[in-house]
Amino acid sequence: MTVLVAGGAGYIGSVTAAELLRQGYEVVVYDNLDRGHRRATPPGAVFVEADLGDFRTLVVTLKKHAVDTVMHFAAHSLVGESMEKPELYYENNVVVGKRILDAMRAAGVNYLVFSSTCATFGEPARLPITEDLPQHPTNPYGETKLAFERMLHWYHQLHGLNYTVLRYFNAAGAAHGLGEDHDPETHIIPLLLQVALGEREGITIFGDDYPTPDGTCIRDYIHILDLAQAHILAMEKKRDTASHYNLGNGAGYSVKEVIEATRRITGHAIPAKVGARRPGDPPALVGSAEKIKRELDWRPQYPDLESIIQSAWEWHQRHPGGYQD
Ligand code: UDP
Repeated sequence: MTVLVAGGAGYIGSVTAAELLRQGYEVVVYDNLDRGHRRATPPGAVFVEADLGDFRTLVVTLKKHAVDTVMHFAAHSLVGESMEKPELYYENNVVVGKRILDAMRAAGVNYLVFSSTCATFGEPARLPITEDLPQHPTNPYGETKLAFERMLHWYHQLHGLNYTVLRYFNAAGAAHGLGEDHDPETHIIPLLLQVALGEREGITIFGDDYPTPDGTCIRDYIHILDLAQAHILAMEKKRDTASHYNLGNGAGYSVKEVIEATRRITGHAIPAKVGARRPGDPPALVGSAEKIKRELDWRPQYPDLESIIQSAWEWHQRHPGGYQD
């Protein structure tokens, strides 16, 4: 079976591509390297450097490699950036997303796994977030991901295209020699590790006046390899239908707790000061993974924050400055 990994040179896409190869699947990585890294592309994969909006190249690639499944990771995914440039998010996450579905139809590929997000829920009515809660995003990132979820719904209803939506909570950690390297980096764990490596001075906590026990935002961190595994299970078990799963650990950690854990693991003092809230940030996001555990028998191997940060720390120590390409 051949899987096209759209965005396979990015953080989550590259780890999933490597895990697919390990499990014996053929992999085509399709990435324009706008935000991905050539060095993150696993050696055993075919690499196509092209835009997903390039309809003709995508259709030719899908047909040439007899692709059975598309895993779509190639989105813009930053809450803060989306609050400044919503047009970028509508273009990449909705307009390009539609081109992918149309290319799949043209090439006769009938199953897609979509990297969605807990940001589609906005400020949830209760925690942990189950799949049935209403989705009211509070930023263009979540809104455009939800728009693509709805597009999938109608392509399924009207064109018979099957899909699995996986709504990630906070992906973190490293696996298969691959790790997190964004430019600019905005995510809390790699930022903290850059401080520990002496690459930056300290960290700013974005607000400590949230309605949470210590006043800082709570998030649910999930290891990248556990995420990758969920994609493969979905593809193996749910390819003939439309399904939706939340993908978190069911445990939330505050920004202060993440900083404390990173201090323990790295042995670095990690100076932290409190700054303004980041626009678009909900106070607490914690996911329920009961449905995916029940239906797909998904079992996280790295459920605790410490082992997640530890794996990221090992990768960052080996790759100071990131992929450097
Ligand atoms: N955060 C922070 N300082 C930073 C970066 C992030 O306090 O320099 C907070 C952010 O407000 C959020 C949490 O850390 O509550 C996780 O943010 P991240 O950007 O890693 O992921 P997101 O939740 O936006 O997907």
